[in-house]
Amino acid sequence: MRLILLGPPGAGKGTQAARIGAEFKIPPVSTGDIFREAIKNKTPLGEQAERYIKAGELVPDELVLGIVKERLAAPDTAQGFLLDGFPRTLPQAIAFDRHLAEKGQALTAVVNIQVDPEVLVERLSGRRICRDCGAVYHVATKKEQHPGVCDLCQGQLIQREDDAEATVRNRLAVYAQQTAPLIEYYRIAGLLLTVDGAQPIDDVYRVIVAGLRKRVEQ
Ligand code: ADP
Ligand code: ADP
Ligand code: ZN
Repeated sequence: MRLILLGPPGAGKGTQAARIGAEFKIPPVSTGDIFREAIKNKTPLGEQAERYIKAGELVPDELVLGIVKERLAAPDTAQGFLLDGFPRTLPQAIAFDRHLAEKGQALTAVVNIQVDPEVLVERLSGRRICRDCGAVYHVATKKEQHPGVCDLCQGQLIQREDDAEATVRNRLAVYAQQTAPLIEYYRIAGLLLTVDGAQPIDDVYRVIVAGLRKRVEQ
């Protein structure tokens, strides 16, 4: 299965990606996670991406395409992958289609997680992530077992710098302007599976899995 998770910041892409990846045995690939790891390790990629991410702007297409192609060349993606946070612009989507075609591959589906802006702000302001493994928590809706400590790896939970309110507002505007047009792009391609992301995490998950199963059986 080759999947894309589409949706505004805070829609629940990362949360669902971890579970869907485990369910269908395909690796989740989060461009945001790759950038955050690069920034933490002070690599050249991290240095190039950092100022855009801090400002809530998009990293330039060329840079993003490069890391995605490199990641999808790894052997663990031979049976499929689940992209979280890519593509985010029309040029990225078009270039990615071309890249897949060159490899003789096609997308299985694009899952579009829909959530209203007011809810997104609440989700992003309460989001905490594991500094070490990137696992996603929320102060109200997805609490860790031991305060401040990751359930999965015992890493420290932190708040993302770009989840500050002013940056969040910019990211939502950037989404509306640059990423939302992808919904129509993938609808026309017959790939879109839209789900209501305002439901509890388990319900969203069940709807996505049912939709994907139906699609692959067709
Ligand atoms: P995205 O990757 O789309 O930005 P996340 O998966 O990081 O979104 O989720 C954003 C925040 O909302 C996190 O704190 C997460 O725990 C919480 N969250 C995710 N899905 C839901 C949901 N269905 N209901 C309530 N909170 C959610
Ligand atoms: P969220 O799911 O909360 O929007 P991500 O972790 O997916 O956040 O992305 C964090 C930041 O990384 C984005 O605001 C952007 O600066 C950068 N980024 C991630 N993926 C892309 C992409 N495909 N194109 C451009 N920038 C990206
Ligand atoms: Zn962890």
